[in-house]
Amino acid sequence: MEEYQAMYKASLEDPEKFWGDMAREFYWKTPFEKVGPTYNFDRTKGDVSIRWFEGGATNLSYNCLDRNVEQGFGSKTAIYYECNDLDDGHAAYSYSDVLRMVCKLANALKAEGVQKGDRLSVYLPMIVELPASMLACARIGAVHSVVFGGFSAESLAGRLQDAQSSLVITADAVMRGAKPVQLKAITDKACEIAAKDGFNVQRVVCVARLKDTPRAGQAQHGWVSGRDVWYSDFVAAQAEECECEWMDSEAPLFMLYTSGSTGKPKGVLHTTGGYMLGAFATTKYTFDYHPEDVYFCTADCGWITGHSYVTYGPMLNTATQVLFEGVPTHPDVDRFWKVCEKYKVSIFYTAPTAIRALMKSGDAPVTRNDLSSLRLLGTVGEPINPEAWRWYYRVVGGGHCAIADTYWQTETGSHLITPLVGAMDCKPGSAVLPFFGGPGGGGTVYGDHKRFEETYFSQFNGCYFTGDGCKRDKDGFYWLTGRMDDVINVSGHRIGTAEVESALVAHAKVAEAAVVGFPHDIKGEGIWCYVTLNEGEAYEDSLKADLKKQVREVIGAFAMPDEIHWAPGLPKTRSGKIMRRVLRKLALPDYETQDLGDTSTLADPSVVDVLKSYHPRKK
Ligand code: ATP
Ligand code: MG
Repeated sequence: MEEYQAMYKASLEDPEKFWGDMAREFYWKTPFEKVGPTYNFDRTKGDVSIRWFEGGATNLSYNCLDRNVEQGFGSKTAIYYECNDLDDGHAAYSYSDVLRMVCKLANALKAEGVQKGDRLSVYLPMIVELPASMLACARIGAVHSVVFGGFSAESLAGRLQDAQSSLVITADAVMRGAKPVQLKAITDKACEIAAKDGFNVQRVVCVARLKDTPRAGQAQHGWVSGRDVWYSDFVAAQAEECECEWMDSEAPLFMLYTSGSTGKPKGVLHTTGGYMLGAFATTKYTFDYHPEDVYFCTADCGWITGHSYVTYGPMLNTATQVLFEGVPTHPDVDRFWKVCEKYKVSIFYTAPTAIRALMKSGDAPVTRNDLSSLRLLGTVGEPINPEAWRWYYRVVGGGHCAIADTYWQTETGSHLITPLVGAMDCKPGSAVLPFFGGPGGGGTVYGDHKRFEETYFSQFNGCYFTGDGCKRDKDGFYWLTGRMDDVINVSGHRIGTAEVESALVAHAKVAEAAVVGFPHDIKGEGIWCYVTLNEGEAYEDSLKADLKKQVREVIGAFAMPDEIHWAPGLPKTRSGKIMRRVLRKLALPDYETQDLGDTSTLADPSVVDVLKSYHPRKK
């Protein structure tokens, strides 16, 4: 703890030394002149800007791959690839393998005419070509825009146009659980939609994921000659070495859309030097990373967690990691734990939504696997309610693993608030203390700097506004209470949605809860609770009083729910977060006719109708 405090202080008071020394562990073609940060967060003094490692030139692909190979880690396993289906097997890729792959693809992209600064879209499943495509872009200075493989043709089309990306890397199709996802067919459709708007995609590079396998028949797609090319043909003639483009520290590295929980997704642009150090340092310190660790982050590369904690952070740390193509429930609800046992995973990082979903099936699917290799557990994405934290700690971690509840955002690129496990005691539900004050932070919303300034810098002059609420306890620990927009003001009491949700989930029959405010004649705002029960529990009205009592006992009478709304399913973004803005609309008196806003990132739109059918005010 003392060491943390000293390092924290040093990171803020002497960034030149603290971050400068750390940055010099990496290769810089041109050394930086100044660590910085040089920034302006005050809109009255001009454009908002942040600059790190000014004057320096480096390359992420070099530091993730070549540097490791040069230091003698070429044969170390970088990626264990675990397929969706057990009978489909697995594969291991060493750092040298990945480097060769990346160079061939980078050369192919260059031969295609791709230049520094061009935007390329990647619409792939979790196969090794996904991180490899990101690194190939980074190698030649192209800006990657990874679109999660669950998005629809419309969403993909919008992102292609927004990024003006004329090349897409996709796959024929992939099995996700028992169902095929037709990535190529969706890409074809997206190209058609974009073309109607006058934007033409010139090249579609298609990885043969199901082709030539027993599941080939599951892939159904067309082929546009002249535009489409198989990945293997695309890279076939290319050399296995490729010189890096040396990128200015503030040159764009990638753009990525936020989850769309609170509105239309924002295309955040991240740059090179600061992002690199942020991803590296947080992976190293948050996860207490050691060379012998086997690391497994379940996030898809389509989200920021997959960028920073699958592709970049682990590789900058020369880590060995598991890349999992499938879903936690296929072929059975114990798949994550099977993977952990198989590869002797020591660091496991997932989201509260997955933990709550797996908790519903009880302890047995976890405990029938040998999880003794686990040492550290991480969570990210939403506040984790203490009940889920304790289950994660006790059942998954066997009571001997530390838990890192990592709070951060697409915009920050790396962890903001997180325990440094081992160094500090944790409290269930608290993200604990700030990480070292340091680099990272997206410098703009792609193509819309004004939206960037208005969203993040208009609330508090001179400060970045995350949009999230938080409490600090007497020990200085931080407790995220949910989005500021979601704080409910009941008769003058400010109540965080996360608190009420935690109280509900602590009830033995409750699996998940989402709480919103609604207009209330007397209290100003009332508390409306959407509740999902555990497998096999009946949605009976008699239980509602019990749940209200539960909240009253845990928090107090002022937080007593006004309505309990049964929710066999909740509206979630494709990254697994509850979309409370949709729930707020469904709690309004005229819910039937409400416009639900941008629901393009909603994973399953049909839950809205189910919720309407359970509406407590249904006539
Ligand atoms: P949008 O910005 O489009 O509304 P989003 O904010 O959900 O979507 P992300 O960048 O994926 O997009 O998520 C970041 C947000 O997730 C944070 O602002 C916070 O609300 C929530 N979050 C992430 N990790 C945690 C955590 N450990 N505890 C509490 N909240 C978290
Ligand atoms: Mg956000």
